[in-house]
Amino acid sequence: MSRSSPPWWSNPSAAMRYAMAALSIVAAIVAGLLLDRFLETAPFVSLFLCAIMFASWFGGVGPGLLATALSISAFDYFFLPPMHSIAVAFKDIPRLILFAITAAFVIALNAAQRSAAQSLRRTRDDLQTAVQELERLNASLQVENAERRRAEQISRQAERELQVTIDTIPALAARYRLDGSLDFVNQTWRDYTGLSQHSLTGQRWGVAIHPDDLVLVERAWRSHLPTGEPFQMEQRLRRADGEYRRFWVRRVPLHDESGAVVKWYGVGHDIEDQKRAESALRRSEAYLAEAQRLSITGSFGWKIASGEMFWSDETYRILGVDRAVKPTIDIILQCVHPDDREFVRHEIDRAAQGEHDCDYEHRLLTPNGSVKHLHVRAHRLKYESGQEEIVGALMDVTATRKAQEALQIAQTELAHVTRMTTLGEMSASIAHEVNQPLAAIVTNGEAGLRWLDREVPEIAEALDAIRQIVGEAHRASGVIRGIREFSRKGPPEMIQLDINDVIEEAIALVRHEALRHGVTIRLQPAPGLPMVRGNQIQLQQVIINLVINAVQAMATITDRERVLAIRTQRQDSDQVLVAVEDAGVGIEPGKADRLFSAFYTTKPDGLGMGLSICRSIIDAHGGRVWASRNTGPGMTFQFTISADGHGAGLEKGMNASAPPPH
Ligand code: ADP
Repeated sequence: MSRSSPPWWSNPSAAMRYAMAALSIVAAIVAGLLLDRFLETAPFVSLFLCAIMFASWFGGVGPGLLATALSISAFDYFFLPPMHSIAVAFKDIPRLILFAITAAFVIALNAAQRSAAQSLRRTRDDLQTAVQELERLNASLQVENAERRRAEQISRQAERELQVTIDTIPALAARYRLDGSLDFVNQTWRDYTGLSQHSLTGQRWGVAIHPDDLVLVERAWRSHLPTGEPFQMEQRLRRADGEYRRFWVRRVPLHDESGAVVKWYGVGHDIEDQKRAESALRRSEAYLAEAQRLSITGSFGWKIASGEMFWSDETYRILGVDRAVKPTIDIILQCVHPDDREFVRHEIDRAAQGEHDCDYEHRLLTPNGSVKHLHVRAHRLKYESGQEEIVGALMDVTATRKAQEALQIAQTELAHVTRMTTLGEMSASIAHEVNQPLAAIVTNGEAGLRWLDREVPEIAEALDAIRQIVGEAHRASGVIRGIREFSRKGPPEMIQLDINDVIEEAIALVRHEALRHGVTIRLQPAPGLPMVRGNQIQLQQVIINLVINAVQAMATITDRERVLAIRTQRQDSDQVLVAVEDAGVGIEPGKADRLFSAFYTTKPDGLGMGLSICRSIIDAHGGRVWASRNTGPGMTFQFTISADGHGAGLEKGMNASAPPPH
């Protein structure tokens, strides 16, 4: 509330008040002199009293007294004889004193009135101040009221939200009285158990606990109630549908200011799924560990950025490293056989530099000096976080490698035995092959002797006979060398070969066998074939085997020509194909693949190993062998073999000295 400012005269300065006193006296003197001159009578006393009254009203006691003094002096000077002199006649003194007393009385009255007015003004001002204070107070009260109402609203809203929160938190929440009985349960609790808040009145606290857990939980609850110590434990709680699920329940007390327990609060979290997942995880970990132990396969992980490494128990066991040792690349390299260390380091570097898949074998040298063979396979994983990890497995393939070695030895032995058997079967032809040059040698020797035994020896003729003898001897020794080579035992070498030459040399050993059975061999070698890389004896064994089988298949044929065709040709860009076609008895439809199984034979004295060994040999040469029925009578056996530089098996360093098992 605004107040107008007071007029200037309501609070004049002291100088102004005294000046006004002097002015009022001057005005009284002027008025008195004018009245005296024009009316010849003047009410001097009244005029001066009026002036004094005005001065004291306007200026207060001081100006009033000044006006009084000036009035007495002016009265004496202007209006009392002697005129215009300040001398006072004795007789006028009482008048002047009376005037002074009257003036003093007027001043006193004015002072009293003035002080009353002032105190009134002060009272008014005080009242106005009080009213203003009250108004301010009222306004602040209104603000306070509004704020309180808003605070109440907020508090009610917060209360509602708290209630909603308590009811919707995904945990069973409950409040307990001091005796342990249930006081309040949240909506989640009610939904889970299917019990209402109302139905809990007067209930024991453990309404939903599994009977088997009740005793244990009750004991813990009872022992903690008096101590006020918080506690937690696992317990099974019954769901509305009757199923019990495991919960992790924690109860804490609420203390008042004095520290006494006033309530208890409890929260239960459903850990059933977590428990099941944990036990499933434990079970699968156990299975995995057992599977790793049984398959002698360890696993590992390698976070490339941090260098952090994980090894499974089986990995530790295979590497022969103590479980307490922190896995590192250096430890792996220490375990690797010194001859393989560079190779393994190179493979690890490749993996670290971004190679996606690794698959290699190497050896370990164990502390006791034995050698283990490991097959390592790994690949790179990229997680959503961008982190990369190499995850892999290492298999102890020592037993497999040893078995393979034993098998290779056995197969080499078997191949040798089969060759010897074949030679046995061919003994008549071989004897014939060797006999022929020997007979020729004898004939030529006798002829030579006769030419020399003449009176005039026919030197030229004798020389010719001797040359024939040398040629036949070479032929016989060639046959014998071939037989010796064929029956040779020991690890055969892989060399560059012309397949047509190999076929020709093999045919030389079986030609007579074919003739013996009335079979004509037709060789159809393709010119300009690429060289192949292989083992001569093994490839000869394959060809001889196929030829002898074909000859035997045609042995009983009488209604057609017994012809055996051997063709070679280029197959694709990197293979050479050999086909052996006969016109024999053939086989029943659908049996073509069975022929290559070990011990499959239809011959009374057959071993059933020939074609099985052929397949092993061709496999080791990176090729393929198969049989098919001709559109006419008979069978065609074909095999391919990799041209030199293309043999997959050979390039990989597969041990071709002995065929792998098929
Ligand atoms: P074996 O000659 O000792 O029986 P093989 O493995 O060489 O063993 O041959 C297996 C079987 O395949 C033979 O017993 C025969 O029944 C069949 N077989 C092989 N070659 C031919 C062929 N050219 N024609 C018909 N059957 C054949």
